[in-house]
Amino acid sequence: MSKLVIIANRLPVTITKREGKLALHPSTGGLATGLGSFYREKKGVWMGWPGMPSQNLRGMEGEVNSRLEELDCRPVFLTRHQVENFYHGFSNKTLWPLFHYFVQYTTFDNRLWEAYKKANRYYCKAALKVATEEDTIWIHDYQLLLLPGMIREKLPKATIGFFLHIPFPSFEIFRLLPWREEIMEGLLGADLIGFHTYDYVRHFLSSTRRLLGYDHNLGLITTKDRMVKVDTFPIGIDFLRFFRAAELPEVKNGIQRMKRRIGNRKMILSVDRLDYTKGILQRLDAFDLFLEKHPQYRDKVTLVLVAVPSRTKVDQYMQLKKEVDEHIGRINGRYGTLGWSPILYLYRSLPFTTLTALYNLAQVALVTPLRDGMNLVAKEYVACKRDNLGVLVLSEMAGAAREMGEAIMVNPYNPKEVSNALKTALEMGEEEQRERSLRMKERLRRYDVRRWAGEFLEKLTSIREIQERMEAKKLRGIALRHFLDEYSQSHKALLFLDYDGTLVPFADRPDKAQPDREIKAILQDLATTSQNRIVLVSGRTRETLDQWFGGLPVDMVAEHGVWLKEQNSPWELIEPLKQDWKGVIRPIMEVYVDRTPGALVEEKEFSLVWHYRRSEPELGHQRARELKDALLNITENLNLSILEGSRVIEVKPSNVNKGMAATRWLSQGSWDFIMAVGDDWTDEDLFDAMPPQAYSIKVGLSISRARFNMDSPYRVQGLLKEMVKVKRESYE
Ligand code: UDP
Repeated sequence: MSKLVIIANRLPVTITKREGKLALHPSTGGLATGLGSFYREKKGVWMGWPGMPSQNLRGMEGEVNSRLEELDCRPVFLTRHQVENFYHGFSNKTLWPLFHYFVQYTTFDNRLWEAYKKANRYYCKAALKVATEEDTIWIHDYQLLLLPGMIREKLPKATIGFFLHIPFPSFEIFRLLPWREEIMEGLLGADLIGFHTYDYVRHFLSSTRRLLGYDHNLGLITTKDRMVKVDTFPIGIDFLRFFRAAELPEVKNGIQRMKRRIGNRKMILSVDRLDYTKGILQRLDAFDLFLEKHPQYRDKVTLVLVAVPSRTKVDQYMQLKKEVDEHIGRINGRYGTLGWSPILYLYRSLPFTTLTALYNLAQVALVTPLRDGMNLVAKEYVACKRDNLGVLVLSEMAGAAREMGEAIMVNPYNPKEVSNALKTALEMGEEEQRERSLRMKERLRRYDVRRWAGEFLEKLTSIREIQERMEAKKLRGIALRHFLDEYSQSHKALLFLDYDGTLVPFADRPDKAQPDREIKAILQDLATTSQNRIVLVSGRTRETLDQWFGGLPVDMVAEHGVWLKEQNSPWELIEPLKQDWKGVIRPIMEVYVDRTPGALVEEKEFSLVWHYRRSEPELGHQRARELKDALLNITENLNLSILEGSRVIEVKPSNVNKGMAATRWLSQGSWDFIMAVGDDWTDEDLFDAMPPQAYSIKVGLSISRARFNMDSPYRVQGLLKEMVKVKRESYE
């Protein structure tokens, strides 16, 4: 039976050792609390590091294993060296700062990269002891970016999902990584890759396109041999747990204790790990400015600043701690009185009950990270508010900002804006507070962490189904045997072959696209081993086709069906065609050439083509859409059609296409074997024109009207060679 295997850097429980005895505590962080019960209900297992170097657990591995097994957890033991170089090292000194746009803090050290790879292999080895190809494997976060690819290599048929809990940076940042291609390839081992926001999805897709050349269609990437879906799943919280917290006696007591401590003052709350991405110093500066500009609030507010110790051995974190201490000291010294300290500083991790007491009591939550994948504190604060009173001031750089538009949004780098937002928040009327909170709360209630996990896993199943449907359409196995049998027995076969992207890979430079000797030999053999009729059906010009294939015994179709040529005969126009429309279309295309570096207009006899294969890919796509839009109205009236091929937009008379051209041959006799192979939109007309028994084959894994699919031009070449071989054998 298949099971769910969650793999994350950490387990949902952390092991500690006191006086030689082991103790287990729930791990902090959204993933552990959110999925902690979910995976057990699903009868899954969770694999990860238990939080203590293996040297400290020597001799106790058996006990650790059995204690964790009771919780359906499987430990991945990391040595002190691995913790140092993989976890504190590459994960937190390279990926964490870079993905949060802190290039100046990023360490590029090959030794750490090697440790990262090794640790990912180690997780992979551990995973293979637990997971099988029937299982659903869900891998989490930036510590394990290579793991999807590593597991895919060993379990090619497994269902693998990956979720990134931190931002995925823009390509301009990601490209700085010396190991960027390997990381991309590692991630693309997954079937589904999830991010918190659409911006992160966009950045990821742009990196796959630029680094590996993979295009996508609505987030569906076609790699060399598989389809991978990329999508947005903003993580939710365990809503009811926070919503109901105020009912707990410890929380009620906590609220009373805290009330006594801050008196009648209004409480502003700030909660984060002590991390440079959280903008704590900038927040303190903004609070300083607020007290300076609005003296009426002195002694009327208290900022409760919770900073959870984090990565305390990393230099930048030590430095930050020092600076935060100094800032707080300065502000308290400057404005404090005998009876009032502006900032109440708690440098520790608070238990759930204390934290939710603070959430309940705070009039304002000041959540102003400089960059944050999501930020759960913002969501937890709103969920806790039973009376819907309280205002969230939220950084626009947090992933949560995409879903919490009712918060007061601020740029955390702008102290004046944050200070003004604080004032607005403190003075907001109750009705407005309720209105804003309620809307956010309803969304949090509906899209909670279970729904998040459920939707991710559902999407993972659905992408697997699409992959399976595509697999079933591949021409191989029994279908391939039928194909070859039928072909070897045929006497009169008709073979339509597209060229670019079908017989040879799509080339981004025209000089790379020419047929080599091998392709020509295949065509020659195919034509001469039998009474075959081969028709090359291309978008290229007559001149190019003549130059490339002139000496071969093949028929040809040029310009997507405008020109036809049977062997030993001159080129013929499919029907008399007008040219006057070009004067209208060309100037429009030229405007888009000027606006798109690398683009060009090619004039064919009966069509105009706007090429953008040599322009920057995203700009090219964007301009192609705009050009298509601009052309749509005009072309309709002129009886022209717009074809979107691989990085080209072609305009030509509507009544001409590859399918129309094919009818010339189809109507010529009684063929006992027909095949049509093509790779892009223009070939769909060709497939449509085929009789039902014909073998129509789409190259590439995207959806098509063809009956079959093949992975790549290399496979097509292989197929054609096989056809030559079976034909020869049938004569022997
Ligand atoms: N948290 C906690 N105790 C504390 C402070 C925070 O348990 O004293 C929890 C908080 O409830 C939240 C998580 O830590 O679930 C912080 O998540 P967030 O996404 O805000 O930031 P991260 O630390 O993951 O960057």
